[in-house]
Amino acid sequence: MSFASLGLCAPLMTAVAEQGYDTPSPIQARAIPAVLEGRDVMAAAQTGTGKTAGFTLPLLERLKSGERARPRQVRALVLTPTRELAAQVGESVATYGKHLPLSSAVIFGGVKANPQIDALRRGVDVLIATPGRLLDLFGQKAVSFDQLEVLILDEADRMLDMGFIHDIRKILKVLPAKRQTLMFSATFSNEIRQLAKGLVNDPVEISV
Ligand code: AMP
Repeated sequence: MSFASLGLCAPLMTAVAEQGYDTPSPIQARAIPAVLEGRDVMAAAQTGTGKTAGFTLPLLERLKSGERARPRQVRALVLTPTRELAAQVGESVATYGKHLPLSSAVIFGGVKANPQIDALRRGVDVLIATPGRLLDLFGQKAVSFDQLEVLILDEADRMLDMGFIHDIRKILKVLPAKRQTLMFSATFSNEIRQLAKGLVNDPVEISV
């Protein structure tokens, strides 16, 4: 299995080569084709498995060819439990997407909202956010989800552990029902499966 056989475009292949990756990790080998096919995914994968590139690479591949609204509106939303993880995912999106004309922004609480609102106003294709600040900015009409195509929940189990279930449910209510949803979690507990019921549609289940 090689990255080339996964059907990623040249700008993404260049970014992968620049990172020095030779072969896709097991989660990447399974998640990338499923996401490219437009399937929902439910994946049990710990940090360190390469899960971030597993969802970011096919996400960017899909977004690069889609229709774009002017001004740009959020087409993909990645929800994370912590600001550290949001920042990490944001870096990965910027790194893998650096040869593509897509923009991203990271928003989380505990810092001033104005720079985040400015970034949203300039136009963002991929938004990486923690739930609380996202709801805050949505309430201020700083962000719209009318053009949302893909939702990704990263470390969903930690989001539940940290008590974000109500925030997640509020966010889900304002997202288009017709979308692709990817859910990553260290484990599939009963609680996670319960959450997944209303969230993913006929998902490809991956466990590594
Ligand atoms: P993650 O599980 O997404 O936090 O990624 C763990 C680490 O693995 C990160 O430092 C990535 O840069 C690295 N990584 C991701 N995919 C690959 C790959 N295919 N080959 C080698 N390293 C990788």
